[in-house]
Amino acid sequence: MIVAPAIGAAVLGALAHGALYPNSPLFGHVIAHIGTDQPALALTFDDGPNPEATPAILDALGARGVKASFFVLGRHAQRWPELVRRIADEGHSVCNHGFHHRKLHLKSPSYVRNDLELGTRAISDASGVRPRFFRAPHGFRSPWVTTIARSLGQRTVGWSRGVWDTARPGVDVIADRTVRAAKRGAILLLHDGDGYDPLGDRTQTARAVPLIADRIREAGLEFVTLDSAA
Ligand SMILES: [Zn+2]
Repeated sequence: MIVAPAIGAAVLGALAHGALYPNSPLFGHVIAHIGTDQPALALTFDDGPNPEATPAILDALGARGVKASFFVLGRHAQRWPELVRRIADEGHSVCNHGFHHRKLHLKSPSYVRNDLELGTRAISDASGVRPRFFRAPHGFRSPWVTTIARSLGQRTVGWSRGVWDTARPGVDVIADRTVRAAKRGAILLLHDGDGYDPLGDRTQTARAVPLIADRIREAGLEFVTLDSAA
């Protein structure tokens, strides 16, 4: 009997695809691009706030009038609520990245709901804003992650291109990769924090942001937030 193992492998393959690929539609709709008629894209920053990188990034964005979207981790929002407040006050989108930053694809529905609710509460308490978008840690989902996010009023967001800035490849490499991935409608993934170490070093990303903003503008593209575009 060969058919059954083959089907089993196909099902497992499909489930793995849905769990591990951030934009797979298998486990519910994920926003992977913004719909826009304008030559515009969305810069997104995950895992913050971080006491060193987040203020530097906000300074660089503010000096240029660039708006971005921050997928804030509840655990870090509780520690640095004033930074989450600043993100909101300066006109950026404040979005939910959950609380603990555990991979959610093998977690129970009650775990997922609790993590998303804790994240939402920490972000709302810090900023006064109720997030409208959720991104799963590492993009890993299960059949109920997007459903639970939707029940909290949050649409699930993936990304069109990750820059892998978490590996700290150098400021110029981060800038080059980001500029190469910049296209109309793109959702670009960078990190202002570290999902595991609250004090993790994201200064390379922070130093790349001025280069990224200036070079993408020179290429004729503008920046929009998820709240304004998605
Ligand atoms: Zn993350």
